[in-house]
This record gives sequence, structure tokens and C-alpha cells, in this order.
Amino acid sequence: MTHTVTLVPGDGVGPEITEVVRSCVAELGTGIEWEVQQAGGSVLEAEKTPLPERVLDSIRRNEVALKGPVETPIGKGFRSVNVQLRQSLDLFASVRPCRYYPGIQSRIRDPEGIDLVIVRENTEDLYAGIEFMESCGADGPFLRFLKEQKGVELGCDTGISIKPISVSGSERIVTFAFEHARSNGRKKVTAIDKANIMKYTDGLFMNVAEEVSRRYPDVAYEHKLVDNMCMQLVQYPERYDVLVLPNLYGDIISDLAAGIIGGLGVAPGANMGSEYAVFEATHGSAPDIAGRDLANPVGILLSTVLMLFHLDERSAAERLQGAIAAVLQEGSQVTADLKRKGDTTPAAGTRAMGRAIAERIQAL
Ligand code: NAD
Repeated sequence: MTHTVTLVPGDGVGPEITEVVRSCVAELGTGIEWEVQQAGGSVLEAEKTPLPERVLDSIRRNEVALKGPVETPIGKGFRSVNVQLRQSLDLFASVRPCRYYPGIQSRIRDPEGIDLVIVRENTEDLYAGIEFMESCGADGPFLRFLKEQKGVELGCDTGISIKPISVSGSERIVTFAFEHARSNGRKKVTAIDKANIMKYTDGLFMNVAEEVSRRYPDVAYEHKLVDNMCMQLVQYPERYDVLVLPNLYGDIISDLAAGIIGGLGVAPGANMGSEYAVFEATHGSAPDIAGRDLANPVGILLSTVLMLFHLDERSAAERLQGAIAAVLQEGSQVTADLKRKGDTTPAAGTRAMGRAIAERIQAL
């Protein structure tokens, strides 16, 4: 079956790592047709926006996209391209699998067996952008409201962020996590929050999670507080399977989990909604190494594995995943950041690592 996928090469190292994806996918012989759409810093001057409408139209048409990292110009009044994509396409779930691949250096003593999926709510919480600068001028009425309605007196030097968490938003993300668990043969969902302190927001999330869990008797369910979870993930990461979290905790725990499997360079990701899915590496555009054949392509390649599973191209997904795992385990054709301690042989470039993975695909 042929699938047309929107491909956004992105900025910095984006074009180099997406080129590796194209050559590996060509080797798989799957019917993926790429519709290339440029976004980010490279189009900003000509199109006056880093995310032109044609990119969104292409994703709406194809329903699936693979995206390289894009730069958001700082201090020029542009919203982050990633935030804009999430909002425009209602990509309410951020999915970050963190699986350890032998050969990668991890600071965890026994990383084998780490195979987590983090499902983070993408639209609500303290990231909703409802903020008030410290001041008694324009925001005075809000401080007055707090005093009158809540009896809380805050000084004029206090900044305020609002944390909206809704029943509907919580229900759809927890349902997404259980559906993901069920369709991927996973055994347990852990809901994480700080319900003991923030009863009307995190408490709500916890209650909804418990309620949704009753609809999935075939998937185990447990609840943990986020501070305990940080410690658990460092000490016993192999005990966890699918984690579901509100936005802020999800952001933090996603990076913690990436850290224990070897860092953002090897962590894939996807932003998904009920209609569209955008797959992407979790690292940035790495401008310091751009154009030098130094970038590690593993994050975007593992995101491509996720994309192939999503497109129901199971065999192609497994072959690509197997080829990446084999090259990582063997350890000689990897980029400098993946070299093992004490290995003094020269590192491979981005292209050479890509070629080694493509050759493995042929052999599998
Ligand atoms: P970064 O991830 O680009 O770089 C941090 C460090 O990690 C750098 O030293 C870089 O060389 C290294 N690195 C990153 N990816 C690598 C790879 N594939 N192989 C080897 N080394 C790699 O983070 P940053 O410097 O904070 O951000 C740079 C730009 O990327 C910013 O404009 C930021 O807005 C953007 N960004 C985009 C995304 C995205 O599109 N998803 C995510 C994060 C940052």
C-alpha cells in the first residue's frame, strides 16, 4: 500500500538526518511517498512565517508527517512552530517511547529491560499560557478577585500562572494511553500527578484516570505521585510500561526518561491527535554541528519506526528497528556522541551511519 507522508526537513541538522531517513525507507521497499514541505528558519524571510499554511494543509491532506527539528526565532514575536502545530492540528498527545538499545552508554547500572512509553497531555495545564505579570496595575483586578473570593492576599511583586485541567482533556489523554497500551500489547498504565497537593486539578486528573481504567480490565492500572515517580524511574525504570501525565510533569519526566536510555539523541517522539500524527526526533536543530556530517540520526530513525507502526507497516517498522539496534550494538559505525568510553576508533559520520543501517536492512 502506498502512503503519502508530509516530510518537513527542518533547520540545522534536519536536512542531513531526514536524508538518512529517506535512504533507509527506500531500502525497506515500502510504498512511502514523501511530500516535502519546508518550514522553520529557512522559509521565514521569504514567507514571513516559520510555519506557512501550506505545511498545515499538506499534513491535513496526508494525515501523517515526519518532521526534522525547526528553529523558532527568539524575540521576534513568533509562536513556537511546534506549539503552533500542536494547536492547529489538535495534537493533544505527546508520545515518547524510551527503550534502551544495547550498545548505547547509559548512566543506569542495568539499563537492559527499560521499555517505557510516556504519554503527555499537550494542550492544558500550566502550559496553556494564561499568565499574569507581576503588577498591581493592569492585573490589579485579578489580585483583588483572589483576595475577595479566596481570601488570599498576594503582593504586587507576584507573577501568576493558571493551571487549567479539565475532565474532558484528562479523559481523552488517559483513554489515549489505555488504547495505546492495548493496541501495542503493553500491560500497565501508570497515571502520575501531584493529587495530594493540587486537589482540584491533579486530583481531578487522578479521579478521571481511575474511572477510565475501569473500562480496561485487561490493562493493569496504578497511580503514583510525580516526585516519587522521578525516584522510581532512576532506581527501577524496568518496572514501568505506559506512563500518562498532565503537560508539565509529562515534559519533565519525558526528558528524565530519555536521560536514562542515553539522551535526547536516541529518543523518538510523536505528537498525535484523533486525526493527525506528526513524528519527530526530540532533539533540536543542533546549529553547532549543522552541515558537518556529525549529527546522530537515531532519534529521527526511531521516530520513523513509530510512524511505520502507525501506518500499519509492521514488517517494515520491525526491520528498520532491527537494523538500527544491530548497528548500535555492533558499535563501530556510529556517530561521535554514541561512541563507547575507551573506544578510540574514528566515529562514523551521519551519512556513513545511515549507510550502515541501510546495509543491515538489506541483510535482514
Ligand atoms: P539542541 O538539541 O539543538 O542541541 C543541544 C546539544 O545537543 C548541542 O550540543 C547539539 O550539538 C547536540 N545535539 C542535538 N541533536 C544532536 C544530534 N542529532 N546528534 C548529535 N548531537 C546533537 O538544543 P538547543 O541548542 O537548545 O536548540 C537549538 C535550536 O533547536 C533552537 O532554535 C530550538 O528552538 C530548536 N529546537 C527545536 C526542537 C524541535 O523542533 N522539536 C526541539 C528543541 C529545540
